[in-house]
Amino acid sequence: MQVSKRTSSYLVLILNIINLSWSLPAASQHRPQEKVCRHYFPLESDLPHPVMLEESSGRHKRAAEDPMRIKVFYHSSIGDLSREKRNIIKRRVVPDAVEYWEDILKVVNPVEKIRLNRKCEDNQYFLSPGDTTQYCKNRCVETLCGEFKVPRDHLEGCHTCDNTGRNCKQEEEAGEGVSGVDFVLYVSALTTPQCLEAVGGEAETVAYAAHCQQEGKLDRPVAGHTNICPEAISTAERDIRSLGSTLKHELLHAFGFSSSLFAFFRDKNGRPMTERGDDGKPPINSQLQVRQWSDRIIKTVPRRWNVRKGTLEKTTHVMVTPRVVEEVRRHFNCPTLEGAELEDQGGDGTAFTHWEKRIFQNEAMTGTVHTQKPVYTRLTLALLEDSGWYIPDYSKAQELSWGRGAGCDFATKSCKELMEQAVISERPTPFCNSRMQNAEKTFCTEDRESVGSCNLVVFGQDIPDIYQNFDAVDGVDRRDIGKVGSSVTLADFCPYVQEFSWRGGGAGDEDEQRGTRCENIDNAPDGDNNYAIESFGRQSKCFKQGGSWEQKSCTMIKQWTRFGSGCYNYQCQGGLLNIIVRDVTYSCHHRNQKIPIELVQGSSSGDWLHTGSVICPACSDMCSDCSREGRLLDDHYDKRENLGDCLLQAEDEDDNLLIGFLKEFGAGGFSLG
Ligand SMILES: [Zn+2]
Repeated sequence: MQVSKRTSSYLVLILNIINLSWSLPAASQHRPQEKVCRHYFPLESDLPHPVMLEESSGRHKRAAEDPMRIKVFYHSSIGDLSREKRNIIKRRVVPDAVEYWEDILKVVNPVEKIRLNRKCEDNQYFLSPGDTTQYCKNRCVETLCGEFKVPRDHLEGCHTCDNTGRNCKQEEEAGEGVSGVDFVLYVSALTTPQCLEAVGGEAETVAYAAHCQQEGKLDRPVAGHTNICPEAISTAERDIRSLGSTLKHELLHAFGFSSSLFAFFRDKNGRPMTERGDDGKPPINSQLQVRQWSDRIIKTVPRRWNVRKGTLEKTTHVMVTPRVVEEVRRHFNCPTLEGAELEDQGGDGTAFTHWEKRIFQNEAMTGTVHTQKPVYTRLTLALLEDSGWYIPDYSKAQELSWGRGAGCDFATKSCKELMEQAVISERPTPFCNSRMQNAEKTFCTEDRESVGSCNLVVFGQDIPDIYQNFDAVDGVDRRDIGKVGSSVTLADFCPYVQEFSWRGGGAGDEDEQRGTRCENIDNAPDGDNNYAIESFGRQSKCFKQGGSWEQKSCTMIKQWTRFGSGCYNYQCQGGLLNIIVRDVTYSCHHRNQKIPIELVQGSSSGDWLHTGSVICPACSDMCSDCSREGRLLDDHYDKRENLGDCLLQAEDEDDNLLIGFLKEFGAGGFSLG
């Protein structure tokens, strides 16, 4: 450190942030729990026969060019909610989710109107060749879709035969049906056993959805239900947004992304991709209680999996339908990849019905709801297209930066192997290996949108061998190494950098915790605590810092122990990436260039000289024109500032130093170094 010989007359504070609760929010981090999604798909024994619906035709013909139309019906339980909660459901989250998908999807076979089949006693019914009518054995019973009793008006007539299949007759007329729509969605808010069930051993379910009936021509689901657990409805803005995003995710389970629907997928000519039996349906998988898909849809692929105990075999299930294969190969830039890996953890309702968290991270159809910044990518739209039921608008797809262009190894190797390769090749990996504690060392999330920390934790017991990815971790006893893994278990326990919020920050309102996402201007620290001169806002991204920061006034030095990454504005200009600190532009000439920062910033406690550094990423990571990268080197030392001749003035006040210091910082817990 370059300080004059008068260093001895400074008070040097090592700002151990844990002790400085009055100075910064306590340093502990809080990460919103990523709840595991459990999809409660309809059991085979619950599904009536697919209902034959008239294709749209005639004067009011609706064509495949029209957007998908979803008609919502609310259960009486929605009316029982408080007015505020009812409005959240009926005016915001449900319409938002429905409109979102109506805007992206068109259906292949629009129908004139939807009438649903009756439920039969014990789900037993007769079919006769050439007749599409479902005849209930003995009698029709109440028809439920999820918790919702389907109105008679929405139902086909009740047709029955006796238990020998004779004396068949119509007992009740068909209802009016629901005209001009492609999907009927029944919405309830009941505290069901599913709401109370602990998922993944921790959090409760927020909402779930599934289809309940399919039409007979292409097997497309035409009716479904979603139940929103009333206890989980909160009026906090953050929770409303997350409920909305949960609902969007859940609706896709009802539209097609479900292990109970894969076996019904059709190719682009409308032919079944799974061979049908005599009953016209795919075979039953009695273990999963769903129709069994063929290997044209999902293939089982063994992979050699490098973990702590050596090379094991990992059984993976990959979606291999044509558009999905195309998109997943493009995403990872791996032309030989078999298909898109499905989640293997979490049990029936989670495994198979989501993308694998390890390699698709914040794709919205991975198995966690509440994912930070969920994105619906071309991959998910491709799955919907490959069902044979939808025409998605790919221009509405969102970008996934996780794993983009990362190659075949990324998609097919254990994170242990990838982390070891990264050390040798010095290529970046999105996985991390430092224990999350006290927020002393922060990192950038993989997409640079946020400051974050590594979500590696030590569990209370060994995790399964296939997920043990570490031989050693700093600060973890060797005997505990089998317990080490990511707090997001669905990611095959592979730790990665995640955004967080500072716990206990601000004026005591838990909802107003300061987060770490760079684009959010509310996340900016106040002037006195902005020691690394960070800036937040739409042009801000996360950059690595080269070391700890120091703040110097004429009488005092503050050394801050927390560092690692920060949010800064940047611009791409003149063929270079430029990082802007305060209002000074520093151009990056090569990857890993360390830019020295020495800038004076005023605050309520006067002028301070801030000294630290930021590290340049590769220009191509952030800019499209990098033509001048590597051409010359600017060390930026000419941009250094200083406090002028205040040191001389301060000399006379030496005796007053301690008093000045106490006045400024209070007598609270700090450590003098
Ligand atoms: Zn789900």
